[in-house]
Amino acid sequence: ATLQALADLRADFPLLDQTVNGHPLVYLDSAATAQRPSVVLDAERDFLERRNAAVHRGAHTLAAEATEEFEQARAAVARFVGARPEEIAWQLNATDALNTIAFAIGAASRGRGGGAGSEGITARRFALHPGDELVVTEAEHHANLIPWQELAAQTGATLRYVPVDDDGLWTIDDARAVVTDKTRLIAFAHVSNVTGMVAPVPEMVALAASVGALTVLDACQSAPHRPLDLDALGVDFAAFSAHKMLGPTGLGVLYGRRELLNALPPGRTGGSMITTVTMEGAEFLPAPQRFEAGTQPVSQAVALGAAVGYLESAGRDAVLEHERALAARLYDGLAGIPGLRLIGPGAGAERAGLVAFDVAGVHAHDAGQYLDSRGIAVRVGHHCAQPLHRRLGLTASVRASVYVYNTEADVDTFLEAAAGIRHYFGL
Ligand code: PMP
Repeated sequence: ATLQALADLRADFPLLDQTVNGHPLVYLDSAATAQRPSVVLDAERDFLERRNAAVHRGAHTLAAEATEEFEQARAAVARFVGARPEEIAWQLNATDALNTIAFAIGAASRGRGGGAGSEGITARRFALHPGDELVVTEAEHHANLIPWQELAAQTGATLRYVPVDDDGLWTIDDARAVVTDKTRLIAFAHVSNVTGMVAPVPEMVALAASVGALTVLDACQSAPHRPLDLDALGVDFAAFSAHKMLGPTGLGVLYGRRELLNALPPGRTGGSMITTVTMEGAEFLPAPQRFEAGTQPVSQAVALGAAVGYLESAGRDAVLEHERALAARLYDGLAGIPGLRLIGPGAGAERAGLVAFDVAGVHAHDAGQYLDSRGIAVRVGHHCAQPLHRRLGLTASVRASVYVYNTEADVDTFLEAAAGIRHYFGL
């Protein structure tokens, strides 16, 4: 029933109604970027046509209206992920949000102080020293790897990682073997953008708590697709991107527990984030403004507010069930095609709405071009996870990913084409 209910949503997405290379478009690349429904496009346009103004500054009517709408969007996004509005700071994208956390911890490590209202927590809580350890997994997107490499290099801390197995998977026991009382921060993806594995978040949070480490959750592939309650999960920080959840590009979300955000020194400084400035120094506003230096992506935030409203009315459990059903169909179909090696959890195991695979004897880019010639959009390459691909003995893979607007027919069209890839290349 849910499948049929959500199939009707497809008509809300104008972009999907087109032909590509003479075939009706089959869009299976939502893990890279999602398409936007008319209500999201209209919300941004309507804001720009009627209420656009600089927020938090002007005394004029438009400025007040724009500010109210901007803050309503923040509140909507906060509700959507189980956070308070002041725990949500706008950023350029998820990559930027992760860098913001790393910059702030770097500043604390250089002895910069945090702000007021930090509930007993001071910036020293975050300072890293030689001998301290940061932990990530071998499956991370580069966005949740390189900022920690850089932070380690700046502070003398050591970056360690939870290794993955031959399918690209890791377990809580693998993490327990790496985390020690030297671990100060653990950063990991809630859902892998390559394997589709769902991380054991509560167990990871408990593991971090047992050694007093901070947790950073890369929620890029979870926030758009499954119910998410960051407060209940108990993570310290999280990051996700608007463009993967039916919203615009140019907008990412940083989540941090209020008392932590307020205790951190900002990594970036400038206008709109201060209380007092002299020629000698500055005092900073509490979160979220202390992490929002300069003019913000206001119309984009308004559009994201509309996007989360759309996802809520679709029903977040319904979205998850819809994607589970399509992912199972994708997985089972691909598993039945000779010459394909599927990455990630096996048949029947929990996986997000994506499947990455290698085609024996065919480069992923060639496979992608063949599929494109049939109107099918998939992702090819290392998906910003080179270490993971290297561990799997691959340089690239093909990834098909689904979202609310995909149908069983999309999956079946893709599977029929996928079954012909090796034949097309003479294998
Ligand atoms: N982490 C994961 C798991 C992702 O899938 C992505 C996007 N591919 C990112 C981080 C980075 O997102 P963005 O490029 O929007 O900053």
